[in-house]
Amino acid sequence: MRKAKETVLEIDLGALTHNFNYLKSKLQPGTNFLAVVKAFAYGSDAVEVAKHLEMLNVDYFAVAYTNEGVLLRDAGITKPILVLHPLPVSFKTIIERCLEPSLYNSEVLEQFISTAEEQHQSNYPVHIKFNTGLNRLGFQDSEVDVIVSKLKDTTAIVTKSIFSHLAASEDKNEVEFTNKQIRSFEFIAEEFEDKIGYKPWLHLCNTSGIINYPDAHLDMVRCGIGLYGFGNSKTEDSNLKPIASLKSVISQIHSIEKGESVGYNRAYIAETFQKTATIPVGHADGIGRHYGQGKGFVIINNKKAPIVGNVCMDMIMVNVTDIDCHIGDEVILFNASNSANNLANAADTISYEIITSISQRVQRKFLK
Ligand SMILES: *Cc1c(COP(=O)(O)O)cnc(C)c1O
Repeated sequence: MRKAKETVLEIDLGALTHNFNYLKSKLQPGTNFLAVVKAFAYGSDAVEVAKHLEMLNVDYFAVAYTNEGVLLRDAGITKPILVLHPLPVSFKTIIERCLEPSLYNSEVLEQFISTAEEQHQSNYPVHIKFNTGLNRLGFQDSEVDVIVSKLKDTTAIVTKSIFSHLAASEDKNEVEFTNKQIRSFEFIAEEFEDKIGYKPWLHLCNTSGIINYPDAHLDMVRCGIGLYGFGNSKTEDSNLKPIASLKSVISQIHSIEKGESVGYNRAYIAETFQKTATIPVGHADGIGRHYGQGKGFVIINNKKAPIVGNVCMDMIMVNVTDIDCHIGDEVILFNASNSANNLANAADTISYEIITSISQRVQRKFLK
């Protein structure tokens, strides 16, 4: 692998294939695989990742917002795309671009029906979302009657699936709560099928659901973080491969005398002689200020160099007093062997946050 000469996010599509095959091996043969590619495929690159997964014959995609789905359609993605959190202002676009909305309350359901009718649609596929305990988006179980009567009043839309989302599928202390969510979803599904008179697909599991609740895979699973190489547990992290590596380079080295300060607000004062390296990556690239003041670190020549003082917009300074290093040396912020988990944990956050934060300014490079 070539050493980085500037800040770059390397995306290993071979690792993506590995993760997809591993997660798919957890499913029964008939279970559909939906890849969640929201937020630029968790900060990697939505288009390249979706193209690769389409080539691997994934069944479905999901994004959070309509514009993310439009981006995929513009790039030529043809598989169905579920929009998890569409807002009524985008309903015309949803239909124009053959995206499939999640409908999560009565207002949204009514508005989508009227847009679909205005657009002379028939049997346009929609996905009805139920709240079973996350209390974020979704109809309540008591609303099945109302929903079904609205659906029976129109031929413009058809229910492709009904689904819900687990609140704590990664948490072994919440097994009872999760089982309650699963049972409650099964009840909803039974009542819904009874009243509507056909069987929409059912889906419930995210990555940790796939791993921890094999009996709840139903007709489809919705997999995000696992595809990108994180399994929310030590065991599963070791079965998966992080697809993204954030690399940079040393652009300058400073000698700091005792009593001198480093960076904005003079947030770091050297207590002894120190050597610092300046790295061209900052909070505008996704390394937030909470990584500053010694919490976050980078790897230079296999050694840990903590961030010194405040994170700047375009740069960080790191302590390299005990590291033999030079201008132009490669710097690793995270990669397969120095997991983004470690950096995230050092600043009290989670892998999901750091990987999705890497801004669009950072060049993406793809390893095929
Ligand atoms: C983001 C999201 C997922 C994917 O969750 P992971 O934990 O990343 O696998 C699945 N379903 C819904 C509704 C989501 O919002």
